[in-house]
Amino acid sequence: ITIAVPCEPSPETRVALVPESVRALTRAGHRVLVERGAGARARYPDAEYAAAGAKVVGGVDLAAVDVLAHVTPLPARVLGALRPGAVTIGLQSPLDDADRLAAANARGVTMLAFERLPRTSRAQAMDALSSQALAAGYRCVLEAAVRLPRFFPLAMTAAGTVPPAKVVVLGIGVAGLQAIATARRLGAKVAANDIRPDSAEEARSVGATFLDTGLDAAEGTGAGGYARALGTSAAERQRAALAPHIADADVLITTAAVPGRPAPRLVTTEMVAAMRPGSVVVDLAAATGGNVEGSRPGEDVRVPSGRGDGAVTVVGLASAPSDLPTDASRLYATNVVNVLGLLVKDGALTVPLDDDIVAGMALTHDGETRAAGAAPAPA
Ligand code: NAD
Repeated sequence: ITIAVPCEPSPETRVALVPESVRALTRAGHRVLVERGAGARARYPDAEYAAAGAKVVGGVDLAAVDVLAHVTPLPARVLGALRPGAVTIGLQSPLDDADRLAAANARGVTMLAFERLPRTSRAQAMDALSSQALAAGYRCVLEAAVRLPRFFPLAMTAAGTVPPAKVVVLGIGVAGLQAIATARRLGAKVAANDIRPDSAEEARSVGATFLDTGLDAAEGTGAGGYARALGTSAAERQRAALAPHIADADVLITTAAVPGRPAPRLVTTEMVAAMRPGSVVVDLAAATGGNVEGSRPGEDVRVPSGRGDGAVTVVGLASAPSDLPTDASRLYATNVVNVLGLLVKDGALTVPLDDDIVAGMALTHDGETRAAGAAPAPA
């Protein structure tokens, strides 16, 4: 089959396939078209794609493509130029964009959305949300470390002892676990909180202490074991329990998300102002609702500390995986290739809706928008 990779629109720096994944596809007998410069910002030159067997083209002839692999959602005009029955694989948020859905359905294009991938063991190798969350969790700790006017590790030297930095991580999903592990590798003391009961053990397994806020399991867990939005009283109790730990921290990292909802607001400006001057807050959810009041995606906001002259820096991350485009793209490309593996039968393109992964991911098919099937229901 013919698989194409377009240049992503700026400011996206990632690319949907890397030369190594192209090689796997061309070896399997597929034709791969790569738009000139598609991998440049992720540091994959055209020559490497060509060496891996891809055809590097000035513009992709969309009508001749079976599968279009992408990172950012494709514009309606691209979907409308694909051949009937073509398949797209990529990230699609928001999933209910009327123009894109209409354009895809008018052409009978199947849009496969990573956001709708069922989170089963078999789907793990295709889980782009997890691979990108891993990159984000790593990155947010580095962002904090370079802004903090202190060391992360304990330093015992002839000039005296420097205590380790104290880091609090809220949200212990894929990104949060990676943030904990990264902060621990840098030598910080890490404490973490989440509202899913399993998260305590997961946090301990990567070296954090768990901050128990005394909520019942039922208050924080919804469909499929995922987090749900907390009621007002539970959210208040959570904030009250976390406030002293946050006030005592040098770094606060927030990664909380609830499927199908804006990110929960966990930290008020008052809680930020209770931190020492020079402390750093990194809000990974700044672009999806904000875990921290007043955070702005892509900006550093200074909140005056109530504990002396100086401010607390609140870093709003916009797209952390795009700041690590080489490896984020490499993992993403493997996720794409693994999804492709479900679609090719005897050298031909198929959309096997009897496969729970394909059925879950298919946002549109045969001219119709499909309801979320195997994907976790919104809380
Ligand atoms: P996510 O990005 O949707 O959310 C991040 C974390 O925020 C979650 O752990 C969630 O519980 C937490 N959260 C939500 N509201 C909160 C609040 N008010 N306070 C504190 N924390 C809050 O989650 P994710 O990283 O996609 O993963 C969530 C779970 O799914 C994890 O248990 C993960 O291990 C699991 N998972 C399973 C698979 C698989 O089996 N294929 C793949 C990926 C993730």
